[in-house]
Amino acid sequence: MSTARGLDQAAVERFRDQLLALKRDAAVAVETRLHGQGELRKDEAGLPRHADETDDDGAAETQRQADVVHLARKATQLDEIDAALARIATGDYGLCIDCDEPIDLRRLEAYPAALRCARCQQQAELHQSRLGRHA
Ligand SMILES: [Zn+2]
Repeated sequence: MSTARGLDQAAVERFRDQLLALKRDAAVAVETRLHGQGELRKDEAGLPRHADETDDDGAAETQRQADVVHLARKATQLDEIDAALARIATGDYGLCIDCDEPIDLRRLEAYPAALRCARCQQQAELHQSRLGRHA
């Protein structure tokens, strides 16, 4: 009752600490990107104005898009971290949300917010890329 399959309580607590630290980092990263870095004037979404850093409009646009992608990734990461923390609370942490099999420990150590085993993650990403940009 106190442990998820394959994970002892000490491991779960260690992952919870890592998740909380990751969550702080991701939240700070999103805040910084969204609200600018102090000396920068607010523009659009508060993203850094890379046009000021380069003469090349194309490069600036590419950099801006990279910022947006980065932000989206951080936001997704925050969702995953919250989901992982919720699963710690219910005792389901460390089990794949798709096939319910234990997630490889090395995978969790590399990315504590992992919600799927490697196999299901691959499937999910395949599915996502097939859906394209419509979602
Ligand atoms: Zn799975």
